[in-house]
Amino acid sequence: MLSLCLLLITPQASAVRLSMCQGNFEAIRGPAYQFALQSAPGNVDPLLVRDIEVGARGIYQHWEALLAAPVPFVVDVRLELFADAGAFRQRKQSLVPELPEVTGFYAWEPRLAVALLDASSVESRHRALHEISHLITVSQLGGAPHWLAEGLAEVHETIVVTPHGPEFHVNPRHRRWLAVAAAPSLTELFKAPYTAWTAPDSQRLYALSWSLVYFLLQSSEGRGALGFTLQQASTHSCGSYDAGGFLVRSYPGGAAALQRDWADWLRSV
Ligand SMILES: [Zn+2]
Repeated sequence: MLSLCLLLITPQASAVRLSMCQGNFEAIRGPAYQFALQSAPGNVDPLLVRDIEVGARGIYQHWEALLAAPVPFVVDVRLELFADAGAFRQRKQSLVPELPEVTGFYAWEPRLAVALLDASSVESRHRALHEISHLITVSQLGGAPHWLAEGLAEVHETIVVTPHGPEFHVNPRHRRWLAVAAAPSLTELFKAPYTAWTAPDSQRLYALSWSLVYFLLQSSEGRGALGFTLQQASTHSCGSYDAGGFLVRSYPGGAAALQRDWADWLRSV
């Protein structure tokens, strides 16, 4: 809506902003949500595909609930699944050659989430939903900070859609890791440079991101603060913004309370 107003009032400036801000542009132009399985191995389990499709819609609806925006935002999810690791690697090279070795990725331009199937259908589902979560986040926020995008993706990959709404499971790998790690730090998470996210020991950052978002979803205050952060980031997605600043300002008691409550919660998980 903000982009539409700018377009009407100052056409030149808005054209620049819109080109940097495709999510907002589409939010006023397209249908709200679409999902398509673009390609998959012939023998892929149709139940797995159905499960991913239901989870993807659940992630979108969870985002919608957190945003509480007056206008639904557009997400056009296309999914590609690979069983063959070589073919998957070739696809990654053609779309995002800069990425290190991964088992899933997303590409904004063709609106694609791509995942390599695993022998475990649970792991395959996680990989696909993780990348779909990224696609949904980037559709609304453009380039979101890593802690926010990865925190949401790590939580969303475990989504279970129930008649009462989405449920998210504790990630046992992250929980085990955090149980023996040093106390979490908001500053460490918010200020981590890009290189730290691709370093061999980046698991701490992923675990911290998961735990912060998961913790926030456990209380109405936390959900409110996360929703506010997403709303503000969405409004400011055409320029730079401080998502961590939005979060600590909207959490009751501010940064000190959030740091304390998060650490207390971690000790109880
Ligand atoms: Zn990710």
